[in-house]
Amino acid sequence: MIREIDADLISPDKLMTSSDMARLGCRHCDGCSECCTDRAEAITLDAWDIRMLKEGLNYSFEGLLGSSLITLRVVDGVILPCLSVKEGEKQECVFLQEDGKCAVHSFRPGICRMFPLARIWREDGSFSYFLQAGECRQPDGVKIRISKWLEYPNIRAYEESVREFHDALTALRGEMKKDLSHEEQVRLQRQFLEQWFIH
Ligand code: SF4
Ligand code: SF4
Repeated sequence: MIREIDADLISPDKLMTSSDMARLGCRHCDGCSECCTDRAEAITLDAWDIRMLKEGLNYSFEGLLGSSLITLRVVDGVILPCLSVKEGEKQECVFLQEDGKCAVHSFRPGICRMFPLARIWREDGSFSYFLQAGECRQPDGVKIRISKWLEYPNIRAYEESVREFHDALTALRGEMKKDLSHEEQVRLQRQFLEQWFIH
């Protein structure tokens, strides 16, 4: 999900690349699963996330949808896959186990890996990481390099994929704001889902 944030509120010295160090290590969450409960509904998935889930669970995109592990939602005007949420008041992510651990930890989505970091995008399609102050319940973490925190074997390939996906999503959002017929909107949405998630 894109949130409008006034970039002036984040001082430039707080913007980081994956080579920077940040105070993040929250002792492996130490029994806390706050991020996986009432936040889960907002976790949208990009093409890299879906590929990891497909490979990790040995499902097709349609299989993930059919098993209700992911859900399609309209996010900022575009249909995107999101993590499903279990029924009940707590709004737990479908992958949160009873022991408080993540069933897909080794191939969990990018937003889960980043937290309490987030990304801020610039108009030229580049991005920086920043720390969402006060969001983590165990904020006094140890300093760790962001690339290590994200735990991707090839951080450059991941970041390039995220940039490409963001460019395509921004272009689609631009198209959807035009005065298109319903049929044309459906065609564009379907094309996007097929190109980035199904194939
Ligand atoms: S709030 Fe912090 S400690 Fe709790 S699950 Fe999220 S990252 Fe871990
Ligand atoms: S995928 Fe895992 S880490 Fe992400 S919200 Fe679900 S249970 Fe939590």
